Amino acid sequence: MTTSAAASGTAPQTTEHFDVLIVGAGISGVGAAYHLTHQCPDKSFAVLEGLENFGGTWLMHKYPGIRSDSDLYTFGYRFKPWTGPPVATAEEILTYMGEVIDENDLDRHIRYRHRIDSATWSSEDELWTIVGERTDTGEPVHISANFLWMCQGYYRHSEGYTPEWDGMEDFEGEIVHPQTWPKDLDYTGKNVVVIGSGATAATLIPAIAGDTAHITMLQRSPTYFIPGHNVNELADQLRVLEIDESWIHEITRRKILHDQAAITQLSFDQPDILKAELIKVVREYLGPDYDIEKHFTPRYRPWQQRIAFVPDGDVFKGIASGKASVVTDEIARFTKKGILLESGDELEADIIVTATGFNLSVLGDIEFVIDGKPLDFSKTVTYRGMMFTGVPNMLWIFGYFRASWTLRVDLLGDFVCRLLGHMDEIGAKRVDVALRPEDAAMPLLSWMDPENFNPNYLMRSMHLLPKRGDKPEWQHTQDYWKERHEIPAIDLEGPEFRYT
Ligand SMILES: Cc1cc2nc3c(=O)[nH]c(=O)nc-3n(C[C@H](O)[C@H](O)[C@H](O)COP(=O)(O)OP(=O)(O)OC[C@H]3O[C@@H](n4cnc5c(N)ncnc54)[C@H](O)[C@@H]3O)c2cc1C
Repeated sequence: MTTSAAASGTAPQTTEHFDVLIVGAGISGVGAAYHLTHQCPDKSFAVLEGLENFGGTWLMHKYPGIRSDSDLYTFGYRFKPWTGPPVATAEEILTYMGEVIDENDLDRHIRYRHRIDSATWSSEDELWTIVGERTDTGEPVHISANFLWMCQGYYRHSEGYTPEWDGMEDFEGEIVHPQTWPKDLDYTGKNVVVIGSGATAATLIPAIAGDTAHITMLQRSPTYFIPGHNVNELADQLRVLEIDESWIHEITRRKILHDQAAITQLSFDQPDILKAELIKVVREYLGPDYDIEKHFTPRYRPWQQRIAFVPDGDVFKGIASGKASVVTDEIARFTKKGILLESGDELEADIIVTATGFNLSVLGDIEFVIDGKPLDFSKTVTYRGMMFTGVPNMLWIFGYFRASWTLRVDLLGDFVCRLLGHMDEIGAKRVDVALRPEDAAMPLLSWMDPENFNPNYLMRSMHLLPKRGDKPEWQHTQDYWKERHEIPAIDLEGPEFRYT
C-alpha cells in the first residue's frame, strides 16, 4: 500500500492507494479477498464495507427463521468444507464466513462502516478514486485503486420493496417488511398476514406460526417449492466411512451439481413433467382434499423464478395443521382491520408482513463517473454479466439464480486473478471490454430474457441494468454448468479485451 496527497476542494486530502479495492464484505467480497490473498499475494487490497460487520445478506436479515434456500455444500466456497446440515441458518453461515476470515487472516484487509458514495475513473491517471464516509465518525474516506472488484450484491440493503396499496395509512395494526424486521416485534397470539409466497414467506411462516393466533400467506399467484429432508445422505454416508471432510465437500458438491443440472435441463426440455413432480410432493404434505390447483400450481415454468427448498416441508406441515393458511387473491385495498380482497373477502390482521421482495440496486447505489462523464450503466453492454463495455478496470460479481451464488464467486475469483496477472505480464494498466466488428449488428436486449428468468424485482428494474447481446459472451447466461468450462478458457488476448 502507498499513500499520496491529492486535492479535494480547498483542503488537502490524504488518499490511500491499493492495487485492488473490493466493495462489500458479503459472501462475494470475503471470497474475493480469499482469492486475492492466495492467487495474487503481491497485490495490495482493501475491502470496504458499509455495515458494522461481514456477512451482507446474512448479517442484515434478522427476521425469524432466516436461512439459506440452497444447500451450503454449493453455497459454501469450494475451498472451505461445509460440515453442517445442507440448509443453514444465517447464524451458521456467518460462523462459516467468520472462520474463512480468521483462517486466512483477512480481517486486516476489511474496513467496516465505510460506505462508498462515488467512484471516479481518470484515464489520465489510470485510477479509480473512491469517495465515501465512515458511518461511525462521519469522516470522509478517499481511496484510489487500480482495479475495482464490485461485490456489493444486487439489492438495496436499507429498505425492501413494498408496493403502494390503497388505504395503507388506514390500517390500525403494524406493517413490517422482513428486511427491516423490528427486534421487539411481538406477534404472540396475534393474527398475522404475510403478503407474498417466495422463499422469505416460506421461511418466516413456520418460524412464527406456533406463537401466532393464526398466520395467513396471501399470494397473488402460486410459487414452486422443493420440500425435502435437511440432510445429505451421501455426505453422511461418507462421514460414516471417515472420509476426509475436504473430500466429502468436493464429492457432495459434484453430486448436487450433477443432480441440479438434470433438473435445470428438465425445466427447459420437459417443464410439464417437472411441474407435475414438484406439485406431487406438495400434495403429499397437504392431502387429497386440499385445493392444490388454486394455491400451489404456478402459472410459470419451473425455474423461471427461484425455487425455494423447504426443509422437512415445514411450511406445508403448518398449513396441514391449520395453524397457517393460504389465500390466493388480489389485494383491493387495506382497511382499518386488515386487507380487503378483490373477491370481496376481508382478511383481519394485527400485523401485516410485506414479504414482497427487494429493490434492485445496481452497483451499490454508488455514483460512477468515467473521465468526467456520469456512467449510465444501462447504456453499457455486459461481458458475461461481469464486465461492462467502456467501464475500465472493474468487475461485478452477480451470482447464479438456479445454482448457488457462491459458485460464481469462486469462478470469477480465478478469472480476476488471471486477468490481473495477465495485465502485469503485458505491462497493461487498463483493461476494458468492447464489442468486436462481428458484434456490430448484434441486437441489444434487456439484461435478462424474461422467458428465461423473470422474478418481479428484476422485471421492475430491468431498465437500470446493462444490455445483453444474443451471444453467450455478451450476456449473463446464468448457466453455471457451461460457465465452469467457459470462464477458465477465456482467451485474455481475445479481440473483446482492450488493454493500454
Ligand atoms: C433472505 C435471502 C436468502 C438468500 N438465500 C440464498 C441462497 O440460499 N442461495 C443463494 O445462492 N442465494 C441466496 N440469496 C441471494 C444472496 O443475496 C446471495 O446469495 C449472496 O448472499 C449475495 O452475496 P453478496 O456478497 O454478493 O452480496 P450481499 O450479501 O448483498 O453483500 C453485499 C455487501 O456489500 C455492502 N455494500 C453495498 N453497497 C455498498 C457501498 N456503497 N459501500 C460499502 N458497502 C456496500 C453491503 O453492505 C453488503 O454487506 C438470498 C438472498 C436473500 C435476501
